[in-house]
Amino acid sequence: MSEKQPILGGAPAGGTGYGGGGPPAGAVPGAPPGAPATYQGQMPAADVKDDPNMKAPGPSAPPPGQLESVGGYENIGFNASALPPPSYDESERGAPPENREFKAVPTITEEEAREALLSFVAEHCCYGKKAAQEMNYTDLKSTSAFHYTLETFGEGRTTAWAYEPFIGQTIDVPQNGPAPGPWDIQAQPGALFQNGKIEIEVPHTAGVKPCHECLATGRIRCFRCQGRGRLHCHSCNGSGRESYYEDGEHRHRTCCHCDGSGRRRCYTCDGYGMITCTVCDGRASLKFYIKLTVLWTNHLEDHIVERTALPDELIRGVSGQISFEETVPRVWPIVHFPDQEVNMASKNLVTKHASSYANERILMQRHKVRIIPVTQAYYKWKDNDANYFVYGFEKKVFAPDYPQKCCWGCSIQ
Ligand SMILES: [Zn+2]
Ligand SMILES: [Zn+2]
Ligand SMILES: [Zn+2]
Repeated sequence: MSEKQPILGGAPAGGTGYGGGGPPAGAVPGAPPGAPATYQGQMPAADVKDDPNMKAPGPSAPPPGQLESVGGYENIGFNASALPPPSYDESERGAPPENREFKAVPTITEEEAREALLSFVAEHCCYGKKAAQEMNYTDLKSTSAFHYTLETFGEGRTTAWAYEPFIGQTIDVPQNGPAPGPWDIQAQPGALFQNGKIEIEVPHTAGVKPCHECLATGRIRCFRCQGRGRLHCHSCNGSGRESYYEDGEHRHRTCCHCDGSGRRRCYTCDGYGMITCTVCDGRASLKFYIKLTVLWTNHLEDHIVERTALPDELIRGVSGQISFEETVPRVWPIVHFPDQEVNMASKNLVTKHASSYANERILMQRHKVRIIPVTQAYYKWKDNDANYFVYGFEKKVFAPDYPQKCCWGCSIQ
């Protein structure tokens, strides 16, 4: 069995055949001049079985202590650390507004209540419309729901060491000047009250270092064959022979996938046992720098005042009259709204937001009160005394007790 020599550790023998397993002749692609053609380090004693689903493992972290410390950024690592924002100067806030105007909200008529119910019935294929057409209204009670929302738009900043392949880009070294403080760097959000994120290289913090992953060679051991350049042939399971059936007999022949060697050239490294370093992208050097991440978050909280049997959360999804809206760097709680519960909610949420985001600089706040019309329509139909709700400018209907919920067709199911 000359084709199946025992395989020991070390670099695989060269070979040119399809199944031989060795690397192809010629220079190693991507390798720096003078680099060994094949993997020379430790590897398993035998070819490894291929797992086609195997993914390249993540890179290792750079060793600590490799980087010089930068003034103002002494204690940062490779994980993002939050930076407390500069404190807010209360004198910028101004006095609370005195006269805020609140707009009233329209009510609806019987006709509108019936129309709303009819279109609600039409949306439900098995509801009968007779009840909606024939019902007699006994009362229409118009009330208003209040929806208070407070948004606090904050900016958080974190810093961490970062690195990327060094491809000859400009390096802004510490010798160029002192690094600006993390809150002194300009960054504008794309839009107010919308979440967003940007990453910025802190000026004067960059440098170039040899790649720690490949020890500055640009190439690392192949994860698939673990450096051997060859894999166990999966067609013959390493035996070099395959069986087939002919003329009523099981016969054996040389495996055509590996030419009988029982092994195949690794398709990830092309037989070299090494692949391009995934950290430096084969460049052997890395650019290190301090990365500032700016994160904008809109914190939104609300409170609904709704005093009928209508489920409160339904108020959130419909439009109403914006009775009051204010956008300023720091809002003052609403105190003069005609409904005390709204004033209370405003006070509680404004107080809560003032202390909830210690790691963020608050850029802007917005609060508003929406008034949503809610009409409870009482009616009589046949022997039924019931009611339903029409709410929001869309005139949505909430009618859990609608008397004709099932037509004859679906009641037999
Ligand atoms: Zn390989
Ligand atoms: Zn084979
Ligand atoms: Zn590398």
